[in-house]
Amino acid sequence: MSDGEGRQCIRCGDPEGTVLLERCVACGRYFCADCAYRATGRRFDSAECSRAFFYGDSDDYESDDAADS
Ligand SMILES: [Zn+2]
Ligand SMILES: [Zn+2]
Repeated sequence: MSDGEGRQCIRCGDPEGTVLLERCVACGRYFCADCAYRATGRRFDSAECSRAFFYGDSDDYESDDAADS
């Protein structure tokens, strides 16, 4: 397995060359136009990524330990 080449759509698995791949700005994975999720003029590989991009990563929102007690 070599990385760097042989990119493929994470959704349908179509290889680059067969389809035009785009890179998701949220997760960096590649997807083809057929599988693209469109949100306000941008394209993502999934609805989750569009949410992550627009609303930020809400996974570690609770880093609020400023008080040292
Ligand atoms: Zn695809
Ligand atoms: Zn993504």
